[in-house]
Amino acid sequence: MIATEVVVVGAGPGGARVATGLAKAGIDVVLIDRAEFGRDKPCGGALTPRAQRLLEAEIASTEFPVSTRVRTIRLRSEGREVTYDIGDPGVMLLRRAALDAFLVGGARDAGAHTQLGSGVRRVIACEDAVTVSTVDAVYRGDFVVGADGAGSIVARGLGIAGGVMPRAASADVGPPIPDHLDRDMIVDLDAVPGGYGWVFPKGDHLSVGIGSLSARIRLRPRLHEYLEGLGLEAASNQVRPRVHPVPLGMRERLSGRRFALVGDAARLADPFTGEGIYGALRSADAAVRAIIEARRVGNPDLSGYSRQLWQKMGRETRIASALARAAFADPGLLWRVFPGKWRILDLLPGILAGGSFCGSLPRGLIDRLHVPVGVDDRRR
Ligand SMILES: Cc1cc2nc3c(=O)[nH]c(=O)nc-3n(C[C@H](O)[C@H](O)[C@H](O)COP(=O)(O)OP(=O)(O)OC[C@H]3O[C@@H](n4cnc5c(N)ncnc54)[C@H](O)[C@@H]3O)c2cc1C
Repeated sequence: MIATEVVVVGAGPGGARVATGLAKAGIDVVLIDRAEFGRDKPCGGALTPRAQRLLEAEIASTEFPVSTRVRTIRLRSEGREVTYDIGDPGVMLLRRAALDAFLVGGARDAGAHTQLGSGVRRVIACEDAVTVSTVDAVYRGDFVVGADGAGSIVARGLGIAGGVMPRAASADVGPPIPDHLDRDMIVDLDAVPGGYGWVFPKGDHLSVGIGSLSARIRLRPRLHEYLEGLGLEAASNQVRPRVHPVPLGMRERLSGRRFALVGDAARLADPFTGEGIYGALRSADAAVRAIIEARRVGNPDLSGYSRQLWQKMGRETRIASALARAAFADPGLLWRVFPGKWRILDLLPGILAGGSFCGSLPRGLIDRLHVPVGVDDRRR
């Protein structure tokens, strides 16, 4: 049995961030992942301006693994295309394998212990400690953080309910990549019913994918059709798309005595855009603060973390869910001109670039979407 203070399960952006923050605060932390790094993860690899702000210190490093920066979004819907300039700093596009390896390196440099290539099999939280068992070792600590993605074993082990999740399929295409796709981000609401497709250029290759709220869509064949429609027939014959859940909508309960869930394990991907790196980083910072405070006051109950995150992100998440349901069911809504001469379509580039839903949408639209205002949030 290995004694430590905090066990972090999962070393994606959320887990690496928690381990870095705790280690910097002088707390003994072990970061465990079943994969060796750089493992890859199905992901568009888009880092929005708000996620970039959270990674300001890391991005300042010359080693930060950015592939490219994009300032133009082409939005397609109902057979039409509109191009938007999103200005500076633009969206960074990067390889997840490289980003995640970089962030795990940062956690190690900060003093976190790492155990990679060793899956967690069991998590138990008792009155006075948590135990986390991997294939190779058993850890005993004061807290466990579940940063272990969509299928979180920490959430399951601690009895936090599962549920159905939408899925996305993606593939890396190229090199080479055709000239007409090498510069802009393409977001295509015609690519798949109940969702959207994307084409993100990353220098020598493209990330191409589709995601849908509908469980009926067969994503792999649909992605092949989409690739062919883009003129990427040759690539379509070569790639094998990977399908992965996109955990949206925020779990009701994100923490309790001696545990907290962050990122995908907490289901913090944005319900409209699927952006999840921002939610992983933001929740990681909140979990670090909650653990530091719990140690300071000598009370291992982390329930305040769940309440705080619901207060900060709950309303935004509901608005994004309501807009996603409405817009993906009826894409014509995007083009409709509302009184005051504005269209939802024109708000999307800002939202896709990581803007706030609450800040972007006119009050009248939020009312039309029937988003409950804060009532349930107060119960959490
Ligand atoms: C196709 C697709 C495209 C996406 N595109 C974007 C995008 O462009 N931009 C964006 O911001 N977000 C995107 N997302 C969402 C984003 O990828 C996730 O929200 C983000 O990776 C969440 O980070 P995380 O640290 O919470 O979890 P993850 O990155 O999933 O990391 C979880 C880690 O836990 C480990 N793990 C799991 N189980 C165990 C276990 N039992 N024991 C030990 N380790 C375990 C895994 O190996 C993994 O390393 C996309 C998602 C999908 C599916």
